[in-house]
Amino acid sequence: MSDCADMNTVLVTGAAGFVGSHLCEALLARGHRVMAVDNLSTGDIDHLDRLLGHKGFTFHRRDVCQEPTPEMAQAGRVFNLACPASPAYYQTAPVDTVLSSVLGAWRLLELAQHSGARLLHTSTSEVYGDPDCHPQHEEYWGHVNPNGARSCYDEGKRCAEAMLMAYHQERGVDVRMARIFNTYGPRLRPGDGRVVSNFIVQALQGEDLTVYGDGTQTRSFCYVDDTVRALMLLMDGEHLGPINVGNPGEHTMLDLAEVILRLTGSRSRIVFRALPRDDPRRRCPDITRAKSLLNWEPTVDLEEGLRRTIDHFRGVLGERSVTVA
Ligand code: NAD
Ligand code: UDP
Repeated sequence: MSDCADMNTVLVTGAAGFVGSHLCEALLARGHRVMAVDNLSTGDIDHLDRLLGHKGFTFHRRDVCQEPTPEMAQAGRVFNLACPASPAYYQTAPVDTVLSSVLGAWRLLELAQHSGARLLHTSTSEVYGDPDCHPQHEEYWGHVNPNGARSCYDEGKRCAEAMLMAYHQERGVDVRMARIFNTYGPRLRPGDGRVVSNFIVQALQGEDLTVYGDGTQTRSFCYVDDTVRALMLLMDGEHLGPINVGNPGEHTMLDLAEVILRLTGSRSRIVFRALPRDDPRRRCPDITRAKSLLNWEPTVDLEEGLRRTIDHFRGVLGERSVTVA
């Protein structure tokens, strides 16, 4: 590591986003100095409200694709979360999405090569595409449309993984790769197009819950605290990854809608809308690797996590009404 970088200083990109804001809180609670970077494209500065006065915390409104500042070379550890994550949003901004993944990863790899920092990149279950292997383990290469509606995100993340391995093998950069499966919890942006956010907003506002397709497609939902804990363990440990980070409980979207209706006590109806293009049919993580290498598994079950998320959304929606993406 260079003279200027220290292990206690952590750079978090995408810090004002949903997962990033929880990660910053957890790092500060552990006594780290946190340098937060975000361009606020899908994030919200309000997510960092409680942290802005903390003496160990600084916020820098920047794009991850910009050349890093000399100050960023002080970080001994870098978590890269900067990238839009909601399909409804990233499909409206495919160029920014692919650049955030690819150019953003390149910028941070160059920084890490120079400073000697360890770089953890948040990859995604989307690298498996519409999987023909179930559940998905890390050795599976995926089934991804290279130029379809979701490819700016899926292929952007795949290219970033390839670049991490290239810099690691050829230039010795210290990297970590987490493949995050659908994560939910407080501070998901209300109505941002992701299913948990949409359904809770719709249920609380008395609107129809919009199930896409016939609702038999599946996802596996991990509560944000569990995801953040896994990211920190991966950063601290000696295993490069990729490592799946997700909750192996698998649910259809129709089941999810019914659970949310029950937990909110809503009388909203379920309606069916067209399935978006290239929407994966099934998704469920094999977390054998995370269990054995990180001694990690999720601890918050879906109903408990949804209750906490619903409570948060009640607070946010008490102040305003939201249109679902
Ligand atoms: P989010 O959209 O809430 O957060 C992303 C943050 O990155 C936002 O604050 C946004 O403003 C910022 N950002 C986007 N492009 C940027 C850029 N070019 N420069 C600087 N900042 C930029 O999404 P999230 O759910 O918190 O996801 C965080 C990361 O985890 C993303 O990289 C995402 O791909 C990955 N991930 C998330 C999930 C999930 O279910 N939440 C699943 C798989 C992977
Ligand atoms: N979905 C849905 N209704 C919505 C939003 C999403 O039925 O209002 C479906 C979507 O088609 C997908 C699943 O929920 O099958 C998860 O979608 P999300 O956008 O949350 O994440 P991803 O597709 O990236 O897993």
